[in-house]
Amino acid sequence: MKARYQYRFYPTDQQRQSLAQLFGCVRVVWNDALALSKKDKYQGYNKLSALLTQSKKTVEREWLKEVSSVPLQQSLKNLDTAYKNYFDSLKGKRKGKKLSAPKFKKRTNSQSATFVKTGFSITGESVYLAKIGNLNPIWSRELPSDPSSVTVIKDCADRYFLSFVVEVQPVQVDAKNQSIGIDLGIKTFAAMSNGEKAFSPNYSALDLKVRKLQKKLARQQKGSNRRNKTRLQIAKTHNQIADTRKDFLHKLSTKLVRENQTIVLEDLNVSGMVKNRKLSRAISLQGWREFRTLCEAKSEKFGRTFTVISRWEPTSQVCSECGFKWGKLDLKIRSVKCLNCGTEHDRDENAAKNIQKVGTGHRHDSKRTMRQSKTTSVASVVETSRITAPLGR
Ligand SMILES: [Zn+2]
Repeated sequence: MKARYQYRFYPTDQQRQSLAQLFGCVRVVWNDALALSKKDKYQGYNKLSALLTQSKKTVEREWLKEVSSVPLQQSLKNLDTAYKNYFDSLKGKRKGKKLSAPKFKKRTNSQSATFVKTGFSITGESVYLAKIGNLNPIWSRELPSDPSSVTVIKDCADRYFLSFVVEVQPVQVDAKNQSIGIDLGIKTFAAMSNGEKAFSPNYSALDLKVRKLQKKLARQQKGSNRRNKTRLQIAKTHNQIADTRKDFLHKLSTKLVRENQTIVLEDLNVSGMVKNRKLSRAISLQGWREFRTLCEAKSEKFGRTFTVISRWEPTSQVCSECGFKWGKLDLKIRSVKCLNCGTEHDRDENAAKNIQKVGTGHRHDSKRTMRQSKTTSVASVVETSRITAPLGR
């Protein structure tokens, strides 16, 4: 099983220059190949690789010879993967949302270059990259095994990282519990079927800062130094938000996967919801998709079962105790009392319990539920003091 291990490093001025040159070359190789593919049709890695070798003999592109050829080849391999994924997505062979065609790379976005075995080596504390030299990353944790590749990254806030791909062994830890269902929301990030709740860190102060800076940026002159400074500030604030979120999501997903043998989530139509402009900012900040990806990856690492149930399951419309169906509830209603069995439920916890039931194959007799819902039209709804609007803004 493969994993990524990432470390920060601080390049010397000389290395900064060499890396800038390398990133530029990687970008040009990608953009040239993409332009060609868009003009005609995608011709495959081998053809593009041969064209790259030829182009190095021309005056316009001979400067590509000044950097290592390994990341340039890798840039074409990455383009090849991007095209394969795109074609698979077009043919419906790929699950998840539809992919768009590969895009041109911009100088202002984050930059990267990948070295495979032939282009790098690790000696003691330092990492040697061909034609760049020795880099000294901060080894925050030990590499578990020999890496098969390393990607050098410069993000929008001008931070540098080395990201290694390594082979890792599944971890052997026995789960305390059989299974857990998780209901994701905005006010409560995750409500668990065991009654626990996890709340997101508060991003609103940083989010407000980003919005203010974006307004400032819009007023500043293109290409000016001041504008560039604002752009960097925005990137730094975005990073702060992302780091806080990542830390929270990592801790929560590790705990859940470590303690439970089966983890059940609901498939959320995130891209559909993000189209709702009022909700979109809050949803993007939450990182639901990131959380799901983390749970899935960690389940593999810990040998757990990871299940996603259909978003059409009426998990908030059914009593998790007796299966009685009370129908749709307004988002504002946080607490429900079942008319059939009298159980009082917290809305999110009830949904989490149903997610767990459906995910582990224990569902209520739907025929019985349907019969009952015909005779009794509405369940009594208890609005408790916990009622809050979903966004809380
Ligand atoms: Zn009930």
